[in-house]
Amino acid sequence: MTKSFIILKLIDVKILDKWVERSIGYPNLSKEDLILRKDYWISSVACFLVIISLTLYFWITHPEFKILLTYGLFLTFIFTTYIIAGFVVHHNLKWLMFTNQVLIIVSTFICILKLGGITHSGGLIFVGFFVVLFSLDFHHTRNSIWLFIIYIITLISAGVLHPYLTTAPEMTSSANIFLFVINLIWISAFSFMFLLNFISQRVEIEHKEAVRLKKTDEAKTKLYINITHEFRTPLTVILGMADLIRTKPKKWLKKGTRKIENNSKILLNLVNQMLDLSKLQAGEMRVNKVQGDIVLYIRYLIELFHSMAEEKRITLKYSPEPDHFLMDYDPEKLMQIISNLVSNAIKYTLPGGKVEILSVIADNDISRFEIRVKDNGIGIPKNQLPHIFDRFYRVESDHKDTKGEPGSGLGLALTLELAKLLEGKILAKSIYGKGTEFIVSLPVSNDATLKEPAELSDMESNVSAFTHIHNKKSNLKKTSKHKNKPNLLIVEDSNDVIEYLHALLEADYHIHVAFNGKEGWEKALQLVPDIILTDVMMPEMDGIELLEKVKNDMRTSHIPVVILSAKADIASRLTGLERGGDAYLAKPFHKRELKVQLKRLIDLRKKLQERYANIEYFKGSPDKNSKIEDSFIGKIRDFMLTNLGEEINIKSLCIEVAMSKTQLYRKFNLLTDKTLFEYLQSLRLHHAKELLMTSSLNVSEAAYQTGFKNISHFSKVFTKEFGVNPSKIKEKSLST
Ligand code: ADP
Repeated sequence: MTKSFIILKLIDVKILDKWVERSIGYPNLSKEDLILRKDYWISSVACFLVIISLTLYFWITHPEFKILLTYGLFLTFIFTTYIIAGFVVHHNLKWLMFTNQVLIIVSTFICILKLGGITHSGGLIFVGFFVVLFSLDFHHTRNSIWLFIIYIITLISAGVLHPYLTTAPEMTSSANIFLFVINLIWISAFSFMFLLNFISQRVEIEHKEAVRLKKTDEAKTKLYINITHEFRTPLTVILGMADLIRTKPKKWLKKGTRKIENNSKILLNLVNQMLDLSKLQAGEMRVNKVQGDIVLYIRYLIELFHSMAEEKRITLKYSPEPDHFLMDYDPEKLMQIISNLVSNAIKYTLPGGKVEILSVIADNDISRFEIRVKDNGIGIPKNQLPHIFDRFYRVESDHKDTKGEPGSGLGLALTLELAKLLEGKILAKSIYGKGTEFIVSLPVSNDATLKEPAELSDMESNVSAFTHIHNKKSNLKKTSKHKNKPNLLIVEDSNDVIEYLHALLEADYHIHVAFNGKEGWEKALQLVPDIILTDVMMPEMDGIELLEKVKNDMRTSHIPVVILSAKADIASRLTGLERGGDAYLAKPFHKRELKVQLKRLIDLRKKLQERYANIEYFKGSPDKNSKIEDSFIGKIRDFMLTNLGEEINIKSLCIEVAMSKTQLYRKFNLLTDKTLFEYLQSLRLHHAKELLMTSSLNVSEAAYQTGFKNISHFSKVFTKEFGVNPSKIKEKSLST
């Protein structure tokens, strides 16, 4: 809170504050300087008003105070100069401010001498001290020290000269006291305000510092999470493939080493991007220009992105105008700029979309070569567009189709720095939902040595880190359908990770694969697998959304879900577990840990089966953690109890639980390890036993009432279920 703000707050006029800023400000004046200028200007106005009022008062009531009136008029003049200068002089007024302050101290000194010395000056000796104190507020320490020295000199001089001075006749003792009080009042009022301002400024600085530290801290945490996240998926593949090569060298040597190579390149690219960024920002990156046909070079480059675009069924087109253009360019930096922009355009455009690259010589300025990368993809929300060139910034997109696209948020930051290094400019235009266009403009020169464009193969190895498709579908062989193997659904967008998981788990599970959350959800409904293993960051629907769907839908809520994520921080783990995940493993994971977790969850299901298979279970209080399962079994049980004597009408039961026949059978079987008919028979037998024990019905009556038509069959299954003959039960109940 500044001094001027305190004053304005007292009279509560915000509009006035704005008016002052507008009137005394000028273009290119920094915010801090404007605040200082405003502070001094408003203080001058306040002093002007106080002094002019006092001078007028004395003029009217005590015209004999000639020395003081002259002094008052002089001070009024000094403040007026500053007030006017504030309006008309559009540069720093530091020196006018200093001169005014010196003049105030010196004129006060002269006035004191004329009035007869310090003791007859009505407290004017404090004016100089106040000026020194006040000057501290403007952060010109050297000026304040000078003012203090001048003040001390006047003070000593007034003391030394005191014996030689004669008291002015108007300075009677009562006038002296009166003036002393008046001066002290306004000086202390201003000093108080100064202190208040000083303290509030300190508080504000401390607050700002705390906020800054918090932001830095948050940015650091975000940075670490981002970096580690980006490193984890390639590391999972590298470690996994190395393990597979070690255990099955024959099968994996060729394929595994290729995957290790690809993923190492991704890591290397990430590290290089980070290093390049720091080099660029430290000004250590050199430009190596060659002269050549830049259009040809771009054409070669774009060629390398065709397979990436085709994978996503995206049309990629380069339309140069003119067809050839000779100029200086830095091949490596241009490759990075274009690769970043084109790979982003493909990444953030939906299948079937279009990415177009244009190159033109700028219309009204022939010295600039413009490259435009235009897509009809998801676009960027308007409020996030200004930040896309920030380091590690990633648009928080709700767009279901590209949510979870891998990325580090480094690409555009690097692109911007590279463009700056090449003395170029970069501009982004985007309409959310419609598409994005990046325009890079480079200055044209023809000074470097002539060189043929780099060979295609040279570029290919550099560009491969950008053209790596994360969502490429895997051609996995179906695992043989083995009756006793549990069904495992893997939901993961990285083809390499899927292949590794497949190789790792195919011996123990019958594996199904989905490449994103949406596909995962569809497969979960269709297959009702025994267990799901899902990644978190995926396009279309992320793992957390999938988890919520699975856990909140009666058809799938019983399926254990293991989250396998590159997000290893505690907050992400907690989110995964809180939303119902049964286990959370961070990439790169330990293969034994993954296997143990999967097995543990499958075994846990056996306990669940024991619980639900037990007909008596619903007599106790239901488990709070299995509400959906309880309600599912409860519904089926109630349905069976109301139709105990009849055959089950499966169609009606499907409607009752809102499931298809297959889903119903599969879920029921997974939960109870029994078929619906086995469960119904148990239910009937338990009911018959209860009738035998609590009513007067005999064995055959109880059997008929619970839907058994054949008495000997009833006796057989009853004895099998309870280990005792039904007639024995009846006898026992009669005797008690
Ligand atoms: P990333 O590695 O996340 O792609 P970038 O720095 O290259 O990092 O991009 C920053 C963000 O800008 C991206 O997360 C993405 O949301 C957005 N973005 C970049 N290019 C496009 C584009 N062509 N269309 C839509 N969004 C884009």
